[in-house]
Amino acid sequence: MTDILSKEEKIESHEKALRRYLQRDACIDCTETNWDDFAVHDEIWNSVAGRLEGRLHLSCFEKRLGRLLKLEDFTDFPVNNMLKLGYSIGIRQ
Ligand SMILES: [Zn+2]
Repeated sequence: MTDILSKEEKIESHEKALRRYLQRDACIDCTETNWDDFAVHDEIWNSVAGRLEGRLHLSCFEKRLGRLLKLEDFTDFPVNNMLKLGYSIGIRQ
């Protein structure tokens, strides 16, 4: 039985697929994989990221903003529930 792709070509193909998958979730500033989910009010997002399409880590977003996000910066969307819990128990201030 003959394979169409060599072993090296298969590895390269898998690496490319993995890279594409990870880039989909990459932070546009630091390029690290980003699974931070948060939603801030439009005016705050727009002041920092404008019409930018993509994802930012919470910390990278705060770097751009020049300050830490405050509880009132976040929307009421359920995606923020864990963050809000962090504020309520003092992990975030
Ligand atoms: Zn980042």
